[in-house]
Amino acid sequence: MFAQQRAIPGRSRGGGQVGNGSHYCYTQDVVTQSKPYPTHTSGARALALAVVVVLTSACQGSQNIQSDSSKTPVVVVTYSILGDLVADLVGDAAKVIVVIPNGQDQHEFEPSAKVVEQINNADFIVSNGLDLEEHLTGVLAEAATRGVGVFTAAEHVTLRRANAKLTDAKNGNDPHLWLDPITLAEMIPDLSVELGKVLGVDLSESAAQLSLRLDTIDAKIKEIMSTVPRCALVTGHDSLGYFAARYGCQIVGAVIPSLSSSAETSAGELANLKTAATQANARAVFTEIGTPRAVVDQIAKEVGVKSVELRTHMLPPGGHYADVMIQLATSIADALK
Ligand SMILES: [Zn+2]
Repeated sequence: MFAQQRAIPGRSRGGGQVGNGSHYCYTQDVVTQSKPYPTHTSGARALALAVVVVLTSACQGSQNIQSDSSKTPVVVVTYSILGDLVADLVGDAAKVIVVIPNGQDQHEFEPSAKVVEQINNADFIVSNGLDLEEHLTGVLAEAATRGVGVFTAAEHVTLRRANAKLTDAKNGNDPHLWLDPITLAEMIPDLSVELGKVLGVDLSESAAQLSLRLDTIDAKIKEIMSTVPRCALVTGHDSLGYFAARYGCQIVGAVIPSLSSSAETSAGELANLKTAATQANARAVFTEIGTPRAVVDQIAKEVGVKSVELRTHMLPPGGHYADVMIQLATSIADALK
């Protein structure tokens, strides 16, 4: 499906879905150097491996494409969900390369020499910021000093402060911007202007369309969440703050009480979480990337509720941003009804 003349075929904007028809590329050596997820469930690991296989295949095609289309501007985006939106925004005007393979934990990803080269050779870079891509921070700063334009999404949206009672709060602002489409939409005007300048195209119409689709996603999530009588969230790490604030949920606590899945937890913190979950009458313990499933299952068992895995940090196979958010809301609603 990637055997196109260019990495990003023309946009197809039907169905109100963000990312319809937008393709982007992970280079093969980025994928093959990726590590599996040591803390994931076997199911998640199987999914991850499947994603790696698909992406490896995709990149075999795209490597040839890259050499054949050297004049096409290259926009490097750090992770897949943001890459999906950027690809949708730029359409045919640029090639979008995502450097953190879909399904790999953004908090833990460490760049290879090839990734560093890709970042330094980019015409433009779009990153999340707030230490989400914590091991890329220095590389991105170095690229900026070399004159590569870097758009940091977190600098263009209204940020959510971490709840100091629930997290280590060493990084005060929550990097999980994408888990609220309205927060994400705030960056679209600035991003489209900056990208448009670099690419020499007018992206205003594309930006308007994208913003409308983000509004549509928000409306669908509201509809789904309206079926939940009380939304009390116990999560893997402190990732769902934006979602909770937008859709009227309470964050009870997190198995890893941190904005990053790379942090650790303690027996005392887990005991506190169990107490909080019981007092809040939480109906599920949610798990996600970077959270040991066995620990989550044990907590859920002791609290007397089910554990449910959420795909918070990655695109579903063949899916787009809209799928991430609709599936997330549906999974939460189904668990809490
Ligand atoms: Zn996270």
